[in-house]
Amino acid sequence: MQKGGGKMAGMPVDISRLFVMLLEQCNFSCGHCAWKDGRLEGQPATHPGYKVSYAQMRTCLTEVQELQCVQRIHFSGGETTLWKDANKDFVDLLIEVAAAGFEPSFITNGSSFGRYDKCQEFLERYLSGSNRTLHISHSLDTFHGNFHARKGRAKSLDNLIRFGKGQRAEKQDLLHMEVNACISKDPDSLLPKDMIEYYRSQGIGFLFCPVRPSGKAKSISHLCPNTDSDTPEELGAFYPFLQQYKDYMKSWSRCVSLYGEKYQFPDGKVAKLRELREFLVDSQSPTSTPA
Ligand code: SF4
Repeated sequence: MQKGGGKMAGMPVDISRLFVMLLEQCNFSCGHCAWKDGRLEGQPATHPGYKVSYAQMRTCLTEVQELQCVQRIHFSGGETTLWKDANKDFVDLLIEVAAAGFEPSFITNGSSFGRYDKCQEFLERYLSGSNRTLHISHSLDTFHGNFHARKGRAKSLDNLIRFGKGQRAEKQDLLHMEVNACISKDPDSLLPKDMIEYYRSQGIGFLFCPVRPSGKAKSISHLCPNTDSDTPEELGAFYPFLQQYKDYMKSWSRCVSLYGEKYQFPDGKVAKLRELREFLVDSQSPTSTPA
């Protein structure tokens, strides 16, 4: 287990990633969305209009820097690119994360990249303000409906690829893009094969994820793959992608999540924002009891 450094010196702190549930706001209305009525199931911190503020993010960055073991900070939503607070927008936030010593990462529905000039402005600003790799995970599937079904292309992804190819090699290396595609048991939920092949030939990786029966997706729970099983009957169209998904989930096993004013650990323990250090010190104490 990795030891924490700085003020955490000597403490066993084993966290490699921070997941930030950034905001509820979204400009899509997908039927498989984990949000319903402005809330995420099992997350009482979330509510209609939920958003992590700039001040909260600054506090979080300072606390997580002290751990000296977190490498990547991943933002999810809602639509992450819509985030704004205290005269800062999402690109400002990504640059601050990079400047604080972390690799920023985010998932997007692609709506901010549908126009090339907007895509260019976003990425040029990031690249001029940072020299750390930016990981962009583009949700792209039949549930989001954000691609041209007949052509098998997505304008937003084409724009991201076009921008990347126009950069010098050292800048290209700072942009890591992949597609995150949701799949149900239904074979009709799969992306067209030739579309996947085309984007793979452009250097884009694909991660296939199961639709989860929470939030709005509860209404289609009969179509949600059961990932506790490994049978084609329980997994349907997701069956071929189960192992890749399980391997991917292992990379998140050492992850702490931020929901507004609280951190949540993989074992379910919860720490308050501004009290991370005290929480970790207490949790190492021989007399500590589970939260
Ligand atoms: S699934 Fe993603 S893009 Fe779709 S409504 Fe939910 S947050 Fe928005």
